[in-house]
Amino acid sequence: MKTSIDGLILKEMTVSDNDRIVTVLTKEKGIISCYVRRAKHIKSRNFAPTNLLTFSRMNIYNGRGMYIIDEADVIMRFFDVDPDIKRFALSQYFSELVIKSVPQEVESDGQLELMLNCLHLLSNTLRPCDIIKTVFEIRLAVLSGSTPNILFCDECGCYEADRMYFDYNKNKLLCSGCCRGGDCLSELSVGAVRAMRYIIVSEPKKIFSFHISESALKQLYDCSENYIISMFEYRPKTLQYYDSIRKLF
Ligand SMILES: [Zn+2]
Repeated sequence: MKTSIDGLILKEMTVSDNDRIVTVLTKEKGIISCYVRRAKHIKSRNFAPTNLLTFSRMNIYNGRGMYIIDEADVIMRFFDVDPDIKRFALSQYFSELVIKSVPQEVESDGQLELMLNCLHLLSNTLRPCDIIKTVFEIRLAVLSGSTPNILFCDECGCYEADRMYFDYNKNKLLCSGCCRGGDCLSELSVGAVRAMRYIIVSEPKKIFSFHISESALKQLYDCSENYIISMFEYRPKTLQYYDSIRKLF
């Protein structure tokens, strides 16, 4: 039985010269793998809709252990013309995290919306990379059921202090009075804590509607990255690649 489904192509792999296997993020089925015949032929109607970072409407059916894309149409393409290498590298990091964290055959509306939102801002240069990366990491953690616990100091319960510390291994916030040091702490100013709280609780469409100073963003950038690495228990290769490019710009 054929089903129509909208999905974002996160990864593509050439098989048998002409065909492709693509990894797709969908709202209804989470991450799925699909086989596409003759997708490497530039004249094939399935060539453009199954390119990397293309959001497409696809007719799929269940083949032998894998979905098969019968035909597809492009809804939106990201990084279509002259992709900025730094921004493109960041999008590959996002894709790796999503592939690792989104289950198969499970509804993943939030992750798809987050990905489309961030790709739109990235590919059209509408926000700085540092902000997009930080917001993406925090929201993905929330959607994965690992919301950072940053409402109160874990020991004395205070809501705000000039300096607070997020223990990214134990997922808890400490004020400067209660923090007794450690290796896995990210220092956060009041502005950084407030921004993080905002990113966690805001509606999906408003996650970027906040202001943050440069120094607070730097703290939050390190904090969210440390938390993601701790959560996934490895440093993604795409993040290492992005870091090497980020140093050049
Ligand atoms: Zn405290």
